[in-house]
Amino acid sequence: MDSDELPRVEVYPGREAVVEFDPDLTFECVEGCTWCCQHGVLLYDKDFLELAERADLSAATTQFRGEDFVIREEKDRDDHVADDGAACYFLREDGLCELHAEHDWKPARCSVFPLEVYLEDGEIRVTTRDKAWEHCEGMNVSDRRVIENLDAFLPEYLWELDDPVTKREL
Ligand code: SF4
Ligand code: SF4
Repeated sequence: MDSDELPRVEVYPGREAVVEFDPDLTFECVEGCTWCCQHGVLLYDKDFLELAERADLSAATTQFRGEDFVIREEKDRDDHVADDGAACYFLREDGLCELHAEHDWKPARCSVFPLEVYLEDGEIRVTTRDKAWEHCEGMNVSDRRVIENLDAFLPEYLWELDDPVTKREL
């Protein structure tokens, strides 16, 4: 669709996002799902520095194609793991994120899911991750419209990055 026909939302003062998903989309994370925490997580530079204040980077992160990621690791359990038995380094046995539960913080990429951010013509565009429709249990299960709560998904510093594209995987 031509970007002129798509809704533009001012997420922060002077910072707009072009919305490609259905404006009626609602979302609420479903306790115990943990699907999106079974993968490696991209860390923007700011995330990397903030993570250093909360965790041992040498144990928790790796570099791939010049970018930093939280690693996946094999877990000694059957729940909250992918088919290969691994999940995000920070996903605890109880299905909670250690960073979120113990530090009230998480990387930007974790906030953005189930959305996806990319740049076109210098503008931030927001859509839904294709895989979210297959695996994320929180799509359209509540009254919380995503378009009205975009600041909860998109940290403001995405607008300051040369490359805010979120779909970069380990
Ligand atoms: S850092 Fe936390 S929220 Fe992000 S994928 Fe890992 S466990 Fe999930
Ligand atoms: S996949 Fe969706 S419902 Fe499941 S933990 Fe992630 S955000 Fe929550």
